Amino acid sequence: MKIKKLETFTKSFVSFVKVTTNTDEFGYGQMSTYHSDITAQIFHKQIAPWVLGKPWDDFEDLESFILEKEHKFPGSYVLRAMAGLDTALWDMKGRIEKKPIVSLLGGDPGRLKIYGSSMKRDITPQAEADRFMRLQDSLGIKAFKYRIGAECGRNEDEWPGRSEEIIRTINKNVDVNTRKLVDANSCFTPSRAIELGLLLEENGVTHYEEPCPYWEPNQTLEVTNALKIDVTGGEQDCDLRVWKDMIDRGIVNIIQPDIMYMGGLTRSLKVAKMAADEGIPCTPHAANLSLVTVCTMHFLKAIPNAGKYLEFSIEGDDYYPWQQNLFLDDPFSVKEGSVTITDMPGWGVIINPEWLENSEYAVSEMQ
Ligand SMILES: [Mg+2]
Repeated sequence: MKIKKLETFTKSFVSFVKVTTNTDEFGYGQMSTYHSDITAQIFHKQIAPWVLGKPWDDFEDLESFILEKEHKFPGSYVLRAMAGLDTALWDMKGRIEKKPIVSLLGGDPGRLKIYGSSMKRDITPQAEADRFMRLQDSLGIKAFKYRIGAECGRNEDEWPGRSEEIIRTINKNVDVNTRKLVDANSCFTPSRAIELGLLLEENGVTHYEEPCPYWEPNQTLEVTNALKIDVTGGEQDCDLRVWKDMIDRGIVNIIQPDIMYMGGLTRSLKVAKMAADEGIPCTPHAANLSLVTVCTMHFLKAIPNAGKYLEFSIEGDDYYPWQQNLFLDDPFSVKEGSVTITDMPGWGVIINPEWLENSEYAVSEMQ
């Protein structure tokens, strides 16, 4: 069985991929979100030509071949595009074997606990606390992540005093058993990160994400070594050498690869295994309700070093209008603080045919 056809269905934020073999087996995947129109061009120029006409089933070898052929282009865009191929191939494997991907990976479908992940910094501490409490009441979510500092904020807060205020306000308002996580998105110097880290510890926060610029691992290590709280990170990292260094040197206590930034599930499994061998948990990054969260559900439910919760964006259509109507049925329905992976084959989702029809179509085919 060979890869015969690679189709893309693209809007500016999302691009889906359909892979078809010469025997008419098929699967659907997705490239990483944002600038997906650019990513789709890269897909047809730098991914498709290397795999059309090739046997489909050795994902690792196929993807290594792409990266060898594109070795002058190490970095994000090629991997964002490759994620579309990889996730489509996994879907096809699931459809052929009539199994959900979680089962292909040795796990079982079923329920998975989520943490509600806020993407907002322009929200007041009290409004954030109120929103968490509402979601706790209505959906039973027992863990939440909020934002401190400013994104790559050069040590400045979103507005003066916000970080301290939100840390105290959330702790004062939410139920004592609620798990509290924070994300600083590469904001702080080590000394400021440690100062806030001590306040986080006092306020029962258990997860401190990206305290320092992620490209400065020695700064992050200083924070990790100084604090008891779990320091976490890795969402942007997609180079296996960087991952090896992070894991070997214990830069963070919990790793957070993003399946789509990584180039797909295959390479994410590799990183999770490297961490598992060192006893480091993996709580992947999944910041929107497109296929990335679906893929992360299957991944997290299968790996032995899974962190306690799935990252699950709590932002709605006001914040991410492009997330609307991607799938038929709702793969993201939350009950008692959990989502459910069904036993449908592959990723177990049906991409909305109307969305596909209204997207920009491109195809690369075996000659
Ligand atoms: Mg983050």
